Amino acid sequence: MDCLFCKIVAREIPADMVFENDACLAFRDLNPQAPTHVLIVPKKHIDGLASASLDDDLQSLLLAASEIARQEGIDRAGYRVVINSGQQAGQTVFHLHVHVLGGRTMAWPPG
Ligand code: AMP
Ligand code: ZN
Repeated sequence: MDCLFCKIVAREIPADMVFENDACLAFRDLNPQAPTHVLIVPKKHIDGLASASLDDDLQSLLLAASEIARQEGIDRAGYRVVINSGQQAGQTVFHLHVHVLGGRTMAWPPG
């Protein structure tokens, strides 16, 4: 399958890894939208949130987000966790991923 994030999981494409466990892998976004911008992906290919099921490791993704926020030192000031789901939400890579953004004040509502 020609999937960018599967290739990063397989170490076929380099990435700046920051966290890994049995279920997921996290690396810095190539085009960061905040001083800290990390992507967490399940090691197993899932197209997006709409394709995820109870068997998938969704809990691991969110627990990894809070662990990474602590590791990056953004947990006390606050950070944002985002899943863009589908085209209108801005999903461009169709392998489920969680954005962890922090290090600056965030606006609401999001753009
Ligand atoms: P989304 O728009 O929610 O699908 O997010 C995809 C994200 O992947 C974007 O923020 C991109 O900047 C990021 N991205 C694309 N290619 C790479 C890559 N090779 N390494 C790290 N991040 C990437
Ligand atoms: Zn994939």
